[in-house]
Amino acid sequence: MIHIILFGPPGSGKGTQANRLEDRYNFAHISTGDLFRHHLKNKTELGQKAKKFMDHGELVPDEITVGMLRTRLGESSDSNGIIYDGFPRTIPQSEALDNMLREHGERVDALIALEVSEGEIVHRIKERGKTSGREDDLDEDIIRNRIDVYREQTRPVYDYYDDKDLSHTIDGMGSKDEIFERISSVVDSLTDR
Ligand code: AMP
Repeated sequence: MIHIILFGPPGSGKGTQANRLEDRYNFAHISTGDLFRHHLKNKTELGQKAKKFMDHGELVPDEITVGMLRTRLGESSDSNGIIYDGFPRTIPQSEALDNMLREHGERVDALIALEVSEGEIVHRIKERGKTSGREDDLDEDIIRNRIDVYREQTRPVYDYYDDKDLSHTIDGMGSKDEIFERISSVVDSLTDR
């Protein structure tokens, strides 16, 4: 199994690209944001706990997030690998992921970071907000906070995997097809090994 972290600020296109990778490579796509929204919709206890953080564009505490991810990883799948979208977002989450994978003799194979300018991110999130039904995509203050949180708490995850020579950066500007081809060439270089 191959494990790939699709990394980047909110609005950088991780979800869109992860869906395409799912189709092309038969990878499972795990989005912690989608999992949280699923819990919110179903009014689970976990959803109630996560709501107050999500409503403000803050990160849900690591123990809640890691617990949810562990449960998801325990659900069997016959995919060729897993694309992590929106996880890990902190160093403790990265360490937890590494430990969980190690328990199964697996490891993160690569982190692929989508580089997108801040102006473009805000524009994309607002566009998405018109149809996503996500309140955190509509409020400018929440959007800005999500970007600040990314810069302060999540960006270090890039360096964490870069220190292990696993981080790749690709240009996240351009058409969805162009970006997908850039990501695919990194994925192909991993699967060819
Ligand atoms: P996303 O759909 O990835 O933008 O996530 C939406 C919201 O869910 C984020 O603003 C956080 O409140 C929460 N969330 C998603 N993934 C994580 C994570 N790995 N760690 C903490 N909070 C998360």
